[in-house]
Amino acid sequence: MSEDQKKDTPEQADFRAYCRDWLSKHETKTPSSRLPQSAIEIMHTDQMEYLREWQYEAYQAGLVGCDYPVEEGGAGRKDCQLIANQEMQAANKPFLPNILGLGMAAPTIHFHGKQGVKENLLPRLFSCEDVWCQGFSEPGAGSDLANVQTFAEKKGDKWVINGHKVWTSLAHFADWMILLLRTDKSEKYDGLSYFVVPIKSELGKSVEVRPLIKITGETGFNEVFFENLEVTEDYLLEDLGKGWQVAQTTLLHERGAGPMVTPSSGGATSGGSGNQEGLSVGGAYSLINLAKASPRNGRTAADDPVMRDKIMEMIIRQEGSKQGARRARVEGLCDHPMRIPLQSKLVMSEIRQDCGALAMEIEGAASTLYINDENAPVGGEWPLAYMNSYGVTIAAGTSEIQRNILGERVLGMAKSK
Ligand SMILES: Cc1cc2nc3c(=O)[nH]c(=O)nc-3n(C[C@H](O)[C@H](O)[C@H](O)COP(=O)(O)OP(=O)(O)OC[C@H]3O[C@@H](n4cnc5c(N)ncnc54)[C@H](O)[C@@H]3O)c2cc1C
Repeated sequence: MSEDQKKDTPEQADFRAYCRDWLSKHETKTPSSRLPQSAIEIMHTDQMEYLREWQYEAYQAGLVGCDYPVEEGGAGRKDCQLIANQEMQAANKPFLPNILGLGMAAPTIHFHGKQGVKENLLPRLFSCEDVWCQGFSEPGAGSDLANVQTFAEKKGDKWVINGHKVWTSLAHFADWMILLLRTDKSEKYDGLSYFVVPIKSELGKSVEVRPLIKITGETGFNEVFFENLEVTEDYLLEDLGKGWQVAQTTLLHERGAGPMVTPSSGGATSGGSGNQEGLSVGGAYSLINLAKASPRNGRTAADDPVMRDKIMEMIIRQEGSKQGARRARVEGLCDHPMRIPLQSKLVMSEIRQDCGALAMEIEGAASTLYINDENAPVGGEWPLAYMNSYGVTIAAGTSEIQRNILGERVLGMAKSK
């Protein structure tokens, strides 16, 4: 029995048994084309449709939205989402594609949405009939998020939105967006408001989405332009001028520190790829098989003692970082909700980069062979994972910003200039 199972309440133990049974009987189709390494790199409609169908089935079975109230489309359970996540991961199922919806939009709407809006929007988010994206960053507002300039002006009973968002993951598939914008230009923080807006339907016809192509060749994120998009006040979360406070709920969940556990907990940037154990490409344990299959001086890289040492060091770091859940049970370390999640985000994202760099060293010259090259080791997935690992230390707040928050807000150190 695992440590997790030992702590299950009777209700959780029953639910775990149910998940295992359902997952063991569920026939997962084979995708018609290669799947991306995480949800934020879904490029093609066939990839999205395949993953969408999987999320729909998992939701119908009660494995998504477990802890949300029934009237909001959830299963009305208590502390069961984590169990569903663990079991989906153990059964090696695909990731859930609506990662920004599940990880950020759902908890924000749950805590701040108006009655009626929650009931309309959340069931379709959980089932993945509606895909969601996050419209926070702008060309002049990333780390300094409160500097957003996208503006909503009241005209009659409508709000008219104009502006430009950037790095908007999944916007090329999204139906809806959580949107931080400005309703008052004279106040920095108190001039911000928070809307949920349709970006694809008839209502969203004044929204243009332009994909950005990454160094990997993938289109993971986009620029989004608003030109006179009209929405009603129903889609405003909390009062006017309270956008910054609402955004804190989103950011808390994005960094894995929010009260609602979702399939993307641990930070949206984990990509929902279920790689916390480090078993799949990008993780430390998978370096072992890579080394065994990589030729080196007439033998394999796994026979090289220097390589063995380096791989062991990565595995030790990965194992150490996995102890975050145990640290979270030490009262003295939980004085601030951000302490453990931010440390985990920082450490895990840096381990991923170092694992990628070591994989390139193990592959040697073969690391220049990429996806779609039949001679590439592991289908060229490692060079792709290596390049994508750099985004992980930027998304959801850069490593420098996480260090600032840890230093200033968690440890109470003096503010940096
Ligand atoms: C893979 C990926 C997916 C993303 N998806 C989304 C999305 O879906 N929606 C969305 O809204 N955004 C998204 N983003 C954007 C992301 O939130 C921003 O890139 C991030 O907040 C950094 O902002 P910036 O790029 O403007 O960099 P800047 O804020 O301009 O920072 C530039 C550099 O300066 C450093 N810096 C800035 N301020 C400080 C400071 N006070 N102290 C120390 N160093 C500082 C930063 O650490 C960084 O190294 C995504 C980014 C990536 C990489």
